[in-house]
Amino acid sequence: MDKYDVAIIGAGPGGLACAGKAQDLGLSYVLLEKGKRALQGIVDSYPRGKKVYPTIPKGETDPFPIEGLAPSPDTEPVEDYVAKVEAWAESRNISVRLGEDFQGIERDGDGFTVVTRQNRYQASNVILAFGSNIPVDLGVYGEAKTVARGLDNPEDYIGAPTLVLGGGNAAADVVAALSRAKREAGDGTTIWWGHRREQFRVDKDVARDLGEEILLGGNIRILPGAVPKIGEVDADGVDRLIIQTRQLDVGQGVQLNQGMSFPMKRVIACVGTQGPAPVFDKLGLQQITCVAGVCKISKEGTQLIMLTPDFETGTKGIFAIGGAVSPTYILIEKEGVLKETRHSNLIYMAVRDGVRAVQAIANRKMGA
Ligand SMILES: Cc1cc2nc3c(=O)[nH]c(=O)nc-3n(C[C@H](O)[C@H](O)[C@H](O)COP(=O)(O)OP(=O)(O)OC[C@H]3O[C@@H](n4cnc5c(N)ncnc54)[C@H](O)[C@@H]3O)c2cc1C
Repeated sequence: MDKYDVAIIGAGPGGLACAGKAQDLGLSYVLLEKGKRALQGIVDSYPRGKKVYPTIPKGETDPFPIEGLAPSPDTEPVEDYVAKVEAWAESRNISVRLGEDFQGIERDGDGFTVVTRQNRYQASNVILAFGSNIPVDLGVYGEAKTVARGLDNPEDYIGAPTLVLGGGNAAADVVAALSRAKREAGDGTTIWWGHRREQFRVDKDVARDLGEEILLGGNIRILPGAVPKIGEVDADGVDRLIIQTRQLDVGQGVQLNQGMSFPMKRVIACVGTQGPAPVFDKLGLQQITCVAGVCKISKEGTQLIMLTPDFETGTKGIFAIGGAVSPTYILIEKEGVLKETRHSNLIYMAVRDGVRAVQAIANRKMGA
């Protein structure tokens, strides 16, 4: 297995900046992106036609560190920005490994093994550039890694019952889109729509689409109070998710549970996103929990990642940049002084952080 100087997780503006800078400095890199294209995070989260501003936050004096990643001063729409960045990446021969969903990091001698759902990569350094939108964990006993988090390709679900989890607009949109695809394919199999609460909360427009689907013959069954419980592999080696659909107290501490079990490849969980603190926690990176009177910017209880001025975490060789460290982190200043530091979630900052982290990796390699 090749050992890269740096493995970069996420091909947003921050990850792309890292790859560009690594190339300039002659470092070997692997850039891993879970989506189908570079800038997938931006493509997924910006409304169509949204103008992208080239904002440089107050206090920053340097121009955009990589011109090819800067939004135009004429505030171009997001589609143009994405096309421009793709052209820049192509002209620079920046290679992105798509469809690589990062799962964890293992220590490996004096470096690391980065584990994605699909592969393993060895690297001396790792830069976490996965942005701020991390899917909420399903919170089941066992593993539920193969559960999809959105409807990438409706055809994958034609011909078999499918479970959609989540009680909001995102889940409702998936149910409606999947129902349409199944109807058009003449597939009468059921879409089960489960939510852990009794009430679903969707906007009027989304509810209208959904109502239309039901009236047009969509086979949608609603499961309120459906709680994901266990991820397991069955006797045939199929990954399955078990949800509890009903619980009855039959007295003397005895409960009667009713549930359903779905192959995980037939489950789509639209259960929202969260900040990256739980991921940093899982990776064992040092964080500080804010207590009243100590943190001035963040709320009490917030977990903040600790970073050097070069964005290296408390674990030497692992860096975190961009949206993943916004809006606040703890800066480890010289002599170990800790300072709660604001970090604007802006393209400029992600690019600046990436360039700085890679420069630090190169300096260390040269000094070694
Ligand atoms: C609606 C909206 C409008 C905005 N408008 C502006 C603007 O006008 N100007 C501006 O400067 N900023 C704007 N921002 C902020 C800007 O988009 C972010 O600051 C910037 O995208 C952060 O870059 P990043 O590379 O850190 O993260 P992201 O752009 O979020 O990129 C992270 C990448 O990592 C990938 N990833 C995530 N998890 C994994 C995983 N497990 N494995 C592999 N890959 C993974 C994602 O798919 C994504 O492609 C806006 C943000 C939003 C939401």
